Amino acid sequence: MKRILSLNAFDPNAATTQAGAIASRLQRRAKLFGAGSVLFYRQPLEFVRGQGCWLFDAQGTPYLDAYNNVLSVGHCHPHVVEAATRQLGLLNINSRYLHPGIIDYAERLLATLPTAGSSPRLSNIVFTCTGSESNDLALRLADRYTGARGVIVTQAAYHGNTALVSQVSPSSHRHWQAPEHVRVVPAPLGGARDFATHVQAAIDDLARSGLALSALIIDSIFSSDGVCADPTGFLRAAIEAVHRHNGLFIADEVQPGFGRTGSHWWGFQRHGVEPDIVTMGKPMGNGYPIGAVVTRPEILKSYCDDVGYFNTFGASPVTAAVGQAVLDVIEREQLIDNALRVGAYLREGMRKLAGRHASIIEVRGAGLYVGVQMKSAGDTTAGTIINAMRDRRILIGAAGRHGDVLKVRPPLCFGSSHADNLLSALDEVLTQMDASFT
Ligand code: PMP
Repeated sequence: MKRILSLNAFDPNAATTQAGAIASRLQRRAKLFGAGSVLFYRQPLEFVRGQGCWLFDAQGTPYLDAYNNVLSVGHCHPHVVEAATRQLGLLNINSRYLHPGIIDYAERLLATLPTAGSSPRLSNIVFTCTGSESNDLALRLADRYTGARGVIVTQAAYHGNTALVSQVSPSSHRHWQAPEHVRVVPAPLGGARDFATHVQAAIDDLARSGLALSALIIDSIFSSDGVCADPTGFLRAAIEAVHRHNGLFIADEVQPGFGRTGSHWWGFQRHGVEPDIVTMGKPMGNGYPIGAVVTRPEILKSYCDDVGYFNTFGASPVTAAVGQAVLDVIEREQLIDNALRVGAYLREGMRKLAGRHASIIEVRGAGLYVGVQMKSAGDTTAGTIINAMRDRRILIGAAGRHGDVLKVRPPLCFGSSHADNLLSALDEVLTQMDASFT
């Protein structure tokens, strides 16, 4: 499997046209970070300030950020910044002391999850610091609870960077070889109805190797697979198959969570399914590292009976203050409605572009998560577009097994005028490129 993470990255061996201080910092960084240095864009960017959907370089030049799902309620949102600085100046200790803030936050966050019947089943939470830690713990919970090892993931999934989670993240490997307990299923691009069939086949294949199913782990917007949102509900049959075989469904909400897909707080809700474990990360702290695992009490207990899980920086008073502030902003500024409305407007605009530019095959997505399937296989087209958009000061990314899907995923405060900026720049870029597709 080709590595997609470096798709639009700076190549340290290629000549840079950047001069002066930036060129010197590129050299120093390459020397220090070595092979581990990853930078976006052929000509990397250096920012000094952010506000809302905008990033500014040292000259004060604004760039429209249509990529950043971490700063989900907007760069440097004053309410979040104030909450973090106030609490940092008051108290920040580790999670093994009582603190009212984290209890209040846990109650409020859990109340956003769907309840089954009168008593909520997803009622225990463990705080972590990253999405990777959350997924790592989720996989361990599933193994312990089911007593099984088999894991099913999608073909170009990314679930994080720990040793365990890397094993179920095909897209993070240059040459992917599934470990013996992992089975990959094709992402439901276009063939959503077959998804459950593939999951069932993977369960059967595990069984032929003498392995029972522990978990299916899915990012319900299929972000690194190239964005797949419709038809809503297509996940249901796959989850039923998982449950029939006593496996657990882990919903990785690091990408679709916290209202990004519009209409709901959580991506899995679009499919009318209830996960056994929900994992959270990135947008949760608007740039401050907060993650969480939510599950049923019996699943957590079966693990904690044996392992004492403790996370020094998870569940701190600052985590609570920041997390609460992010929820405040999502509610006060009605960002879930905004994601729904502006996302629909953006996709509509993209579809109009598709009518004029043969290079666009399909526009997919939900809320402010948009994937634009481009014609050519390989990362050349998407890579060229992303870099040309960067030159027009608009930041977008790429996804998909072949890196041929434009990924647009702005902060949730993105408005229709921002969408207009993006669409007209993309129109210009595609017009210039049209000749190469004829
Ligand atoms: N899950 C998904 C779906 C992700 O996209 C990511 C990060 N890109 C992660 C998990 C890992 O999160 P983190 O980088 O915070 O560890």
